[in-house]
Amino acid sequence: MHRLALASLFLIPLAATLACGGDPVPSEPADLVLLGGRVITLDADSRVAEALAVRGAHVAAVGSDAEIEALASPATRRIDLAGRAVTPGLMDAHVHFASGGQSMLYTLDLSYPNVESIAEVQAAVAGQAERLGDGEWVRGRGWDEGKLAELRYILASDLDEVVPDRPVWLSHTMGHYGVANSLALDMAGITADTPDPPGGTIDRDADGRPTGVLKESAQGLVSRLIPGLGPEEQRAGIRALADAFNAECMTGGKDPGIGPRVWEAYRDVQEAGDLSVRIFALWRGRNGTIDEVRGYADSLATFTRPHESTGDDHLIAGGVKLYIDGSGGARTAWLYEDWNRDHTDTDTGNRGYPTMDPDELRRRFHAYHDAGLHVSIHSIGDRAIDWTVDSFREALEATPTRGLRHGIIHSNIPTDRALDLMAELQRDWETGYPEPSPTFIWWIGDTYAGNFGPERALRLNPFRSFRERGMIWASGSDYSVTPFPARYGVWASVARQPLLGVYGEQPYGTAESVDVETALRSFTTWVAHQMFLEDKVGTIEPGKYADLAVWDRDPLTVPTEELRDMSCEMTVFNGDVVYERAGG
Ligand SMILES: [Zn+2]
Repeated sequence: MHRLALASLFLIPLAATLACGGDPVPSEPADLVLLGGRVITLDADSRVAEALAVRGAHVAAVGSDAEIEALASPATRRIDLAGRAVTPGLMDAHVHFASGGQSMLYTLDLSYPNVESIAEVQAAVAGQAERLGDGEWVRGRGWDEGKLAELRYILASDLDEVVPDRPVWLSHTMGHYGVANSLALDMAGITADTPDPPGGTIDRDADGRPTGVLKESAQGLVSRLIPGLGPEEQRAGIRALADAFNAECMTGGKDPGIGPRVWEAYRDVQEAGDLSVRIFALWRGRNGTIDEVRGYADSLATFTRPHESTGDDHLIAGGVKLYIDGSGGARTAWLYEDWNRDHTDTDTGNRGYPTMDPDELRRRFHAYHDAGLHVSIHSIGDRAIDWTVDSFREALEATPTRGLRHGIIHSNIPTDRALDLMAELQRDWETGYPEPSPTFIWWIGDTYAGNFGPERALRLNPFRSFRERGMIWASGSDYSVTPFPARYGVWASVARQPLLGVYGEQPYGTAESVDVETALRSFTTWVAHQMFLEDKVGTIEPGKYADLAVWDRDPLTVPTEELRDMSCEMTVFNGDVVYERAGG
């Protein structure tokens, strides 16, 4: 017990740890100590300590080397940080985790710099076709015309030249459009006479013939023909991405829009002890009559209540995801003014559109809200974001429920009015939290700058405006839309630079940049908040789970451009070392 007597003010929560963390014997030594580094706690006082101790699944103490040394025994594993930095494990507030893991394993990766021209796309698709069995689909993902030398869409005719005899479907990196070859269009029955489906666009050439590019709901005409993956592949995808997250010092994420099969796969992986990240899943919204939606909401509400119980905090049924608009890449997101083209031209008459009748979607949102469910709504355009925050306020007036923490996914270009309302909703109702994607500015930032144009681009991801209003937000990658390593998002939150600089180095300006510590909070503490886990993870404090990241350099002191290149040396999840860099 003498060790407890050593506790300084900083160590006092140790006693609380032992009580609430469930570790049985107070005098037991630490299992793991990390000494001689810079422990960036991200606690309320932004404390940076030298060392920390882990016992069981939890952080036992944070303090000086001498204080932590005293908690070690000969059996304790000791890690000499040698001045390296430790942060809380980074988390991703919006990651298509299960589907992203699958596509990582089973889909041709056409992201930059794997392909940089249409000819390279053709070569990759032809190569993939040779590896497949008779009649199998070539499935690809990740292309972006903003990063192809030709700066244009891939077309069916490009694909027909290399693969005429089997169907091809290549998803765009944003997931809101894709391209099919002619055989796949035939199989889907898409001809010049096919009308655009509700909420979707069949892209056509000057003669009205389909080009192969299908946007928003029109993608389903082809994608529904592609055979789905089986349970084994589903589980393999989850395991693979969990490992890849750990190798990037990441320990959790919020997976939007899952269904029962994915939930089953998560449970299987969790029960096998292989889920080395915390997953907070949002269910897909249901289509149908309002009564059917209400019935669905009530059935979900029986076990989708993170604010009441999170079980063992590995896998959480957290709420529901809805969509009000499309994408900034396809120029389908819902705006007040016309979209731009090539930065300064105008896409005359195109202001995007809502995914469905906005009044009907609002009734559906109310049904989930009334059932006490947390909801995050995909909202890119300024008009879409206004709709979303107005929907939150209306629902709260009808059914005042504090603490549901409704989220605004992407929240790309909010109006000043929306910003003010978000701040008010956060303060008064603990709701209205942006869940933005800082890496949009970087990874798809050239396409985005072309489409949003010079004025709107300055308002994209207005993090400093969030901060000035006292708001918090939870950042994510939207993987597979952009690469998942959170270090990219931390960097993008500060640097605001697009990948190639097609429209200049700084089309987004720097007025809305934030400092590194704030950016780190948006990938740790504030993600924890949007996963209802802020008492358990997101900072390094006694009593919280030991979800930790060890970096090769100190993010608080390196030059901004180095943030992107930080290398993960070790990841601790739930007290276990789940990743160590080889030779590190
Ligand atoms: Zn998404």
